[in-house]
Amino acid sequence: MIPEILPTYNRAPLAFAHGEGAWITTTDGRRFLDFGAGIAVNALGHANPDLIATLTAQAGRLWHVSNLYHIPEQERLAALLVEHTFADTCFFTNSGTEAMELAVKMARRHWHAAGAPERSTIIAFEGAFHGRSAAAIAAVGTPKMTEGFAPLLPGFVHLPWGDMAALEQAIRQPGIGAVILEPVQGEGGIRPLPDEDLRRVRELCDETGALLILDEVQCGMGRTGRLFAHEWAGITPDIMMVAKGIGGGFPIGAVLATEQAAAAMTAGSHGSTYGGNPLACAVAARVVETMTEPGFLPEVRRKAGLLRQGLEGLVATHPAVFAGVRGSGLMLGLECRRPPADVVAAGYDAQVLVVPAADGVVRILPALNIPDADITEGLARLDRAATALAKVP
Ligand SMILES: *Cc1c(COP(=O)(O)O)cnc(C)c1O
Repeated sequence: MIPEILPTYNRAPLAFAHGEGAWITTTDGRRFLDFGAGIAVNALGHANPDLIATLTAQAGRLWHVSNLYHIPEQERLAALLVEHTFADTCFFTNSGTEAMELAVKMARRHWHAAGAPERSTIIAFEGAFHGRSAAAIAAVGTPKMTEGFAPLLPGFVHLPWGDMAALEQAIRQPGIGAVILEPVQGEGGIRPLPDEDLRRVRELCDETGALLILDEVQCGMGRTGRLFAHEWAGITPDIMMVAKGIGGGFPIGAVLATEQAAAAMTAGSHGSTYGGNPLACAVAARVVETMTEPGFLPEVRRKAGLLRQGLEGLVATHPAVFAGVRGSGLMLGLECRRPPADVVAAGYDAQVLVVPAADGVVRILPALNIPDADITEGLARLDRAATALAKVP
């Protein structure tokens, strides 16, 4: 433990010095195959030459300029996102949590402007993760996250994940203004909402007027093999939170919204010093351009097939360690018969990085452009990890 750093994280005894593609090297020179990508952040791999060129070119021009002025890089990124999504408008933040804050404010303000301020309550789901701010922990309400932080922000109700019968009831209660969910829960253990259920959520929102807020911070930006996970269900949200993969490792988040959902967010209603700064927006625009090139997402889906097949093989070979595979695209979960923390630690020994999650799952979230050979290598290392773990009683 480093006393100079607040001990809010359980850190592995590893420190990294540099990376390249799907590889990352410790300060003492050990190379790890990275199946975690900084929890779905390094979407185009470490030290991506194209992103380095974009970042350094922008760094030589202008780092920061206030949102008191027009920011061309921000406008370019917004235009790209609007072109490729349901959205009419975007606000840029520095993180997913900040996107959550705005999503909540936007939903409340929408109903305030509509003359129904009592519709301030948002339905959220158990096992969700929307960040660690006051609003985000209140939204999820897990005791682990909220303990000691009372009084919590009011205005949230929690339903069991995927409980459509409970939603049918709850959404018709007075005071409900919005529903927030991750199309695929990430921290919750790679738990997708079936497409037909997501379509039903959209219908229920249409019926009752509730806004649909999708948190695609983890499952968005190409992760599932479409630019955004909700596209698989053929629906669109009213408000969407984005972060993680969009910056490829540079801190940036965004709220995307329809004109109607966002209409009440007028001048002075929200702001951020750094949000939408030129460095972040230049890099993110390059990420979005890359992911929307015609061949990119089909290639993610092809790689996803390889990875999934390999993981199914691991489950078959190591039935004492793994129970199954879940998820889609390059957002996959290994259901573990051993504590996920033990599987992750065995991975460290075999020099492969994977990420723990709730619900007994270990997440596999490689860079979306991971070479096939590195998928094979990562699987081989996971095989060694599982072999070693199976020997431990
Ligand atoms: C990581 C995450 C967040 C929080 O994003 P930060 O950038 O850590 O603030 C919110 N929602 C989901 C689904 C996430 O995975």
